[in-house]
Amino acid sequence: MGTIPAEELGIVAVHEHIGYGMPGSELDSKWWKTPEERYAETVPKLRQFHEYGGGTFVDATGICNGRDVDYYKSLSKKTGVHIVACTGFVGGDTALPHFARASVEYLAKVFVHEITVGIGDTGAKAGVIKVGVSRGGRMTELDKRIYRAAARAAAATGVPILTHLAIDPQPAIEIFNQEGLPLDRVLFGHADDGLNAPNTPSEWIMSQGGRIGFDTFGYETELPDPPFWARPRKERLDHFMDLVEKGHLNQLLASADANCSPLGWPGVKGHTVNYIFEDLIPDLRRAGLDEASIKALFIDNPADFLSIHA
Ligand SMILES: [Zn+2]
Repeated sequence: MGTIPAEELGIVAVHEHIGYGMPGSELDSKWWKTPEERYAETVPKLRQFHEYGGGTFVDATGICNGRDVDYYKSLSKKTGVHIVACTGFVGGDTALPHFARASVEYLAKVFVHEITVGIGDTGAKAGVIKVGVSRGGRMTELDKRIYRAAARAAAATGVPILTHLAIDPQPAIEIFNQEGLPLDRVLFGHADDGLNAPNTPSEWIMSQGGRIGFDTFGYETELPDPPFWARPRKERLDHFMDLVEKGHLNQLLASADANCSPLGWPGVKGHTVNYIFEDLIPDLRRAGLDEASIKALFIDNPADFLSIHA
């Protein structure tokens, strides 16, 4: 809907999805939903988010994964929730061939255009750049090309970068350093999920200046049908509190990575963005986090991260 002053972001869910699907899933009629179904699944969740005091929902759905900016605009208008759209890709392995074959220069131009001019003909500008590590646990040549293009676009526009996965971070950090991008402009995400947390050197990343995303809160083994990346609730909370106690609060961000209305897959039942209010914040209070720290985690840190550092 336009640029949002950082002071007006309010409580931020920094890594979420209106709807995420693998490229091509929109062509599979098994999964087609009417507009009524999509709104019926999504609007109540966003209204509830707003009622709980949520201000801003960052949609981390990249190009090719079902990003639908005109739809986001209508949702924002209906619910009063600020929605930040992204440019970039979830990972090299979700970039369609047109982009997978493109040069760093071309990709950087695409990202800069979406940040400064707009996304397609929507008139809406991207407020964050998504990058990620392809399946396999190592950055591929294409992942690296996308990271470098993102770094150039971030340095040129002042918009931050949000990563899918923080495993194999050495090549990523090398690229950001080479491109002169300060590492506090990068949120290394999914540092907390059950599959990747053991292989993610969160403290090393923070020692280099990066931010760490505990952004899959709620994907827990206690769910009736937990996904493969689930993690015991207490284990994740203890891991988070350990980093807070070591003095890293200012480099941490938290979110739920939920889908309002998944595309081309059933999604994970029983998990929504409102986990942040219904479970996570109460858990953090019980674990001893004070109100100032909760404000830092959900308001101040995301405002600093999302501010355009031109
Ligand atoms: Zn995500």
